[in-house]
Amino acid sequence: MAKWRFRYYGDPVLRQKSVPIGEITEEIKELARYMIYYADNNNGIGLSAVQLGVPIRLFVLRDYIIQPDGRWTVSPPKVYINPKILWKSDELEVDTEGCMSVPHLSVGPIERPKAIKIEATDLDGNLFVEEREGLNARVRFHENDHLNGVLQIDRLPPNVRKKIEPQLHAIKKKYHK
Ligand SMILES: [Zn+2]
Repeated sequence: MAKWRFRYYGDPVLRQKSVPIGEITEEIKELARYMIYYADNNNGIGLSAVQLGVPIRLFVLRDYIIQPDGRWTVSPPKVYINPKILWKSDELEVDTEGCMSVPHLSVGPIERPKAIKIEATDLDGNLFVEEREGLNARVRFHENDHLNGVLQIDRLPPNVRKKIEPQLHAIKKKYHK
């Protein structure tokens, strides 16, 4: 049995602001490994700790990589502790986004900066900086939003958000009895 339970739209923890991590304990390492396992088993490209009910500043993700033959693959999983967005492009991009906590509802248009420069600490305590663009920037913005209690549906134009209200209500009803 896992120690953690996956959280869906309507769970108040998803609206909490996650707290910074001090020491990288065994428990945090165990959680990070479980997050990678959980994301992989549910076709998720990224996952934040708060989605498993632990509001600490931690997320995991894999990068999308385009291969020489034009096909997509993904990178090994990476762990982000206390991530900080150092820079974002003025140029914006629009796309649809799904979220494991808002199941079966890929929605858009969601506007995000096209590129990001982000700093974080890995599980070994090493600080790293990376720059990404397109889909890989989008995943980072999406996960970083989770740490601030923000869901992708909050970034929809109000008329679209209004249109999907019945589906959101159905999710709430299904997972919170
Ligand atoms: Zn999400």
